[in-house]
Amino acid sequence: MQICIHRGAKEIGGSCVEVISNGKRLIIDLGLPLDAEKNDEKYLPDISGFDGNDDSLLAILISHPHLDHFGLLAHINSKIPVIMGADARRILTEASRFLPGNWPIPANGLNLKSEIPIELGPFKITPFLIDHSGYDAYALMIEADGKCLFYSGDFRIHGRKAKLTEKLIANPPENIDVLLLEGSTLGRLEIHESFPSESDIEKKLVDTFTNTSGLTLVHTSSQNIDRIVTIFRACKKTGKTLVIDLYTAVMLEATGNKNIPQSDWPEIAVYIPQSQRIQIKNNKWFDLLKKHSRNRIFIEKLQEISTQSILLFRPLHIRDLEKVNLLNNAVYVYSQWEGYWEQDSYSYLREWLTKHNIPKVSIHTSGHAGPSDLKRFADALRPAKIVPIHTFMPDKYKELFNNVQLYADGEYWEV
Ligand SMILES: [Zn+2]
Repeated sequence: MQICIHRGAKEIGGSCVEVISNGKRLIIDLGLPLDAEKNDEKYLPDISGFDGNDDSLLAILISHPHLDHFGLLAHINSKIPVIMGADARRILTEASRFLPGNWPIPANGLNLKSEIPIELGPFKITPFLIDHSGYDAYALMIEADGKCLFYSGDFRIHGRKAKLTEKLIANPPENIDVLLLEGSTLGRLEIHESFPSESDIEKKLVDTFTNTSGLTLVHTSSQNIDRIVTIFRACKKTGKTLVIDLYTAVMLEATGNKNIPQSDWPEIAVYIPQSQRIQIKNNKWFDLLKKHSRNRIFIEKLQEISTQSILLFRPLHIRDLEKVNLLNNAVYVYSQWEGYWEQDSYSYLREWLTKHNIPKVSIHTSGHAGPSDLKRFADALRPAKIVPIHTFMPDKYKELFNNVQLYADGEYWEV
C-alpha cells in the first residue's frame, strides 16, 4: 500500500490523503485550506482523476462534514463516488441552500456505518464513529496488501460523545502499521493541560444565562450540534426559551436524530430574521418554513420574552435586533474558536458590540483532543509508526511518541 499526504503534513485544514494499492486509489478527505480566501479550484491538489475520467480512482472518503475536510468537493466531477456518513451527507446537502459560494453537495456514494467494513476494489475500509465537534465524524481504517492504515480524522475525548472514542480505546483494532494522527492542539496546549468538557461549557452557560437581565445572544455554528445540545440543556436548566432561525431548525432536523432538539419542541421558538424572510420568499421555501412553523414567533413576541430567551445568534439577526432595540442589557456569548474572532471577517461584529456596549463572554471548548488524550489514543492503538497530519507542529510529535515518521506534502511512501 502506498500513501501520499497531499495536504496536511504541516498544516491544520485542507487535509487530503491518497491511498494506492494494485493500481487502484482512494482519497481520504478533500478539504479547503483554512487560509483560503474563498473556495477556489486553485486549491485542488494535483491528483489524477478529479475530472471523472480515471477509473483507478474508486472513491473519495469524507471523514466528517467540516469545510477543511470536504470543501474542495465543489470542484470535482460528480461521477466520482463520495463515501461518508448518511447524517453528515444530509447536513451538507440541506445546508447548501442557505450558504453562499461554492458549498458543495456531496455526490452519491456508499454511507459509512460505524464498524461495518466496506470492501472496495483491493481496499477494506472500516469506519469508527468518533467524538468531534462535527456531527457524524469517523476515524477510518484502510486495509490492503496485508497492511493496515488508521486515519484518526479529527477527534476528541471531552465532548458529548466521548464514549465513542473511549470505546475505540477500550477495544482497539490490532496490527496497525501506520497511524495518521491529527495534532491540532500541539503547540496550542502544553502536555499537562487539558480542555474543558462540554459539561463544563454547560455549567458556564447556566451561570451566564442566570446573570443576564436582557437578551442573551449565543454565537455558535448551527452545524456544531453538540454545542447546540449543550446550549439547549443550559436553557432547560435556567427555564429559558431557545430561539433559533430556519437554517438552524433545518440543520437540527438533518441530523435525523429525534433525541436532538427540534424546532417543534416546546422549549424552542423559531424566529425568522427579516433577511431570511426575503430568502424564503425569493426561493419559494414555503413548505420548508411551514414544516418549522409550529413554534414560530414574530418580533413583538421576541421583545416580550427577551429576558427569558437565549437567541442562537447569527450575524443576519443584527438588523432585526437594532430595529426594535432588543439590546438593552444584552450579553453576547462567543462560542466558537477564538482564532476566528481575530480575523478581519469579524471586525464588523467587534465594532457592532462596541457600538451597542454589549459585553462579550467567551464560552467554548475545542473539537480536538489535547496532547495527553492524543497520547492515550495512540498508546491504545499501538501502531508500528505514527505519521503527523492536521497539525502546525509535526516536530512536537517526537516529544509525545517514540515511533514518529515525518513525510512532506506530496511525498509518496510505502506502508
Ligand atoms: Zn479539521
